[in-house]
Amino acid sequence: MDISRIFENNQKWIVKKLEVDKDYFKNLSEGQNPEILYIGCSDSRVSSEELMGVQPGEVFVHRNIANMVPNTDLSAMSVINYAVTHLKVKHVVVCGHYYCGGVKAAMQSEDLGLLNPWLRNIRDVYRLHKDELNSIQNEEEKYNRLVELNVQEQCVNVLKTSDVQKAFRERNITVHGWVWDIHSGELIDLKIDFDKILKDIMEIYHLS
Ligand SMILES: [Zn+2]
Repeated sequence: MDISRIFENNQKWIVKKLEVDKDYFKNLSEGQNPEILYIGCSDSRVSSEELMGVQPGEVFVHRNIANMVPNTDLSAMSVINYAVTHLKVKHVVVCGHYYCGGVKAAMQSEDLGLLNPWLRNIRDVYRLHKDELNSIQNEEEKYNRLVELNVQEQCVNVLKTSDVQKAFRERNITVHGWVWDIHSGELIDLKIDFDKILKDIMEIYHLS
């Protein structure tokens, strides 16, 4: 790819948008009111807005390696705080994807330097669900299940934040765990039973 082409593409895109709506950018510049916070993977193949079919202004997006929500990550925590408490989004989505390189790297023992502490969060997910994962014989199935369980645990991390707990009490904000199947292009709702999970853990994480 020739990087200078990006600016040509941008000019063409502006023309296309203005053809449909001459006030498109004027309206965009007036502010944002997204209803969804999407936390996804940085993987170049997982083009979040495109796969959801949403337009600029509709989704507040945070992406990092393996769609993580580490409790001490200032970036993820700031995004949640801003989207939930200031933009007042109605939904928080954590979206993983099958064949995630970050999740795969966490399952191997190679020393990856600076990436080690980041990927260790995924190893913690593995440890929490060790019995279930170790019972899966097929490596690919095991890897895909870890992708799903990682989404579940990152949703739990979202639910641990005071911003989300407050928004849950005040306006019933919803948290969703999704996986994108890179083989078929399909977006899958994992339909995680948060009521059950929360019942088990809220005595520990509850913030008033
Ligand atoms: Zn990934």
